[in-house]
Amino acid sequence: MDIQFLGTGAGQPSKARNVSSLALKLLDEINEVWLFDCGEGTQNRILETTIRPRKVSKIFITHLHGDHIFGLPGFLSSRAFQANEEQTDLDIYGPQGIKSFVLTSLRVSGSRLPYRIHFHEFDQDSLGKILETDKFTVYAEELDHTIFCVGYRVMQKDLEGTLDAEKLKAAGVPFGPLFGKIKNGQDVVLEDGTEIKAADYISAPRPGKIITILGDTRKTNASVRLAVNADVLVHESTYGKGDEKIAHNHGHSTNMQAAQVAAEAGAKRLLLNHISARFLSKDISQLKKDAATVFENVHVVKDLEEVEI
Ligand SMILES: [Zn+2]
Repeated sequence: MDIQFLGTGAGQPSKARNVSSLALKLLDEINEVWLFDCGEGTQNRILETTIRPRKVSKIFITHLHGDHIFGLPGFLSSRAFQANEEQTDLDIYGPQGIKSFVLTSLRVSGSRLPYRIHFHEFDQDSLGKILETDKFTVYAEELDHTIFCVGYRVMQKDLEGTLDAEKLKAAGVPFGPLFGKIKNGQDVVLEDGTEIKAADYISAPRPGKIITILGDTRKTNASVRLAVNADVLVHESTYGKGDEKIAHNHGHSTNMQAAQVAAEAGAKRLLLNHISARFLSKDISQLKKDAATVFENVHVVKDLEEVEI
């Protein structure tokens, strides 16, 4: 499981940073990629990665500000032009209005898609668990921005223990149907009378990962709730230390506030994105240094950077 950042800039694109988008790559888990936000130019960024648009099965939108959604019509249209590839449906989750934005852009531009889009819109009253599959559950909660904006908590379900085949072989279990029985937790007796207890040969279940991806926000308790015990928290850092007042006025956070959220939530790792173009590279290292005084495991991400979870 990896996160690849497609756009890490705030508000408008700069040469170094495109506007917001990131890909949660779940290729080993479910052979899918989930996009979070889709700012203008996201499809161009994807060209510089190994991500295949057809693998993008779900898109989660945090809020309807342009720097988070203007890339949708282009991405969705290009996704249709993958010759000789099967056309697969796509789900879009986001605030009420996202369906109208997408359908209007497609209709006005005469774009016809050879695949279906299933829209899942929500508002203040319909948040909570927004998706559950056999491997993942996704929750959304309202943040505190200048318009309705949410954060997402993606929870992987616990992973079953794995069978220790070497240990079984050493115990004299012949490879075959018995392996399957033991894997299913069944104790078995071998022909020579040896009892094999399944629990001795299956590792303990591993807890699933928790990934928290927030939209634009002031510091708020909802962020902490979404990030409780998260393996990774992706938090905006539009402003730096000392800019708390201006951050608040514009509905954003500083690096210090993001670090406080990570610390209060007991998250394991903090990745800062939504970085203003005002910050030069020396400012970026300062952003990190300052945040690390509150929460040590912090990193300011760059466009195209890939982080293993
Ligand atoms: Zn915004």
